[in-house]
Amino acid sequence: MVVDPLIELRDVNKHFGQLHVLQDINLAVGRGEVVVVIGPSGSGKSTLCRAMNRLETIESGRITIDGQPLPEEGKALAKLRADVGMVFQSFNLFAHKTVMANVSLGPVKVRGLKKEEAERRSRELLDRVGLADQASKFPAQLSGGQQQRVAIARALAMDPKVMLFDEPTSALDPEMINEVLEVMQQLAAEGMTMVVVTHEMGFARSAANRVVFMADGRIIEDRSPDDFFTDPRTDRAKDFLSKIL
Ligand code: ADP
Ligand code: MG
Repeated sequence: MVVDPLIELRDVNKHFGQLHVLQDINLAVGRGEVVVVIGPSGSGKSTLCRAMNRLETIESGRITIDGQPLPEEGKALAKLRADVGMVFQSFNLFAHKTVMANVSLGPVKVRGLKKEEAERRSRELLDRVGLADQASKFPAQLSGGQQQRVAIARALAMDPKVMLFDEPTSALDPEMINEVLEVMQQLAAEGMTMVVVTHEMGFARSAANRVVFMADGRIIEDRSPDDFFTDPRTDRAKDFLSKIL
């Protein structure tokens, strides 16, 4: 059991038409915990992540972040999205803004920082993800791995309580995967609370406190990486692991 969870989902359900995409989901993520979510394509992993910062609504159940229910709209929702940083497979940077603007605009608009302060912090963050010298470039001038590191810096610039990663390396050429995973490893080591959907089992083994395995909209295993990888309990998990390992 997780004491004092930062994220808590209780009996969460959602349909897309006939499809029961989230079925009685119960999940708690503690402060500083790294939870890796794995499972076959279509099992509901992205929907689960998106529900946690209200990019998707739910039909029943309850989601709280730091004890607070997810707000419906307006400023409170913008603040929630800042508290729950999200990094997508497809980077989602603003194409017509510089790297510096991509990272520094959110803190000015949502957190109310002065432009100079936001840019000073953004430079620190770009330095942390190894991109100090790329601040004046546009996204299209960067490699996929660099763009994804900008996306991570942009989410971090909001000073989030938790970071969600939805297959952050799936769109990258193989040689760029590690540079992104290393940034994530470092964040995990610094104590960031993280929920990470990934097929990178090396990352799961080394960085995760827990592995959550999803199939058909349900969480069917929620265990330590050691237990899960050496002794998966369900046939679904065994089958999945035999295909990816
Ligand atoms: P995963 O990330 O595990 O691959 P998703 O959460 O993206 O799974 O999707 C779970 C299921 O819900 C899939 O069958 C997908 O086609 C369906 N789905 C996802 N988003 C929508 C949507 N906006 N409308 C209808 N069906 C959707
Ligand atoms: Mg997905």
